[in-house]
Amino acid sequence: AVSIESVEKRFQNFPALRGVSLDIQPGELVALLGPSGSGKTTLLRVIAGLEQAERGRVLFGETDTRELTLRERRIGFVFQHYALFKTMSVAENIAFGLKSRPRAERPAPAEIRKRVSDLLELIQLPGLEKRYPSQLSGGQRQRIALARALAIEPRVLLLDEPFGALDAKVRKDLRAWLRQLHQRTGHTTVFVTHDQEEALELADRVAILHDGRLEQVGSPDDVYDHPATPFVCQFLGDAN
Ligand code: ATP
Repeated sequence: AVSIESVEKRFQNFPALRGVSLDIQPGELVALLGPSGSGKTTLLRVIAGLEQAERGRVLFGETDTRELTLRERRIGFVFQHYALFKTMSVAENIAFGLKSRPRAERPAPAEIRKRVSDLLELIQLPGLEKRYPSQLSGGQRQRIALARALAIEPRVLLLDEPFGALDAKVRKDLRAWLRQLHQRTGHTTVFVTHDQEEALELADRVAILHDGRLEQVGSPDDVYDHPATPFVCQFLGDAN
């Protein structure tokens, strides 16, 4: 489980996160939903250890993440843009996290090849090892980026608007695809989006951020049928 406890984060004097608490259950897919500037990316970066919170803490199970190195956190991260290394093949991209481990923890080459091939099967793109990112569609690239994040067997998968740059049809297809993949693999996942429909369709629970505060956390039906604040009501209302 991931426990976010009263996290506050400022940039200069600007409060990007103003006391955010959220418990994420093992295997749960939580969508962080909110408008631009509400603090979604900042919260992901705090969970990943890429930003330090001034107050509060993040626990993985019982462990305070401040006691873990970045490597020990074992985060799988997928970004909206520039997800893949352009000069590396698909196989090299997926294996990157494994190959950059210290020698003692690095799997043997044959094992890495097997893991890459299994991951390509899992994401339903078998046999694409030798392709380069420029030879793939945008949707395929994001699926490969997800395979790369899964390769290190992450404790937590953090997805920051992974489908944000894709057109509406591809986005919709990938939503269903990710939902299925999540049901099969059961990774604890935080999915950032500003798209209400995407959040409501994909997530076990939706956490709605506004100006650095969590306005409401609940199941998609719960937040849709019973918005807790005027902001949530208006924000979700815009989807209709
Ligand atoms: P978007 O959907 O536009 O990415 P977001 O909800 O992810 O928005 P954040 O990127 O977390 O929002 O930013 C929250 C606030 O903190 C914004 O007002 C942003 O300008 C500010 N901010 C984020 N990173 C920095 C930084 N490195 N320095 C200064 N201000 C920052």
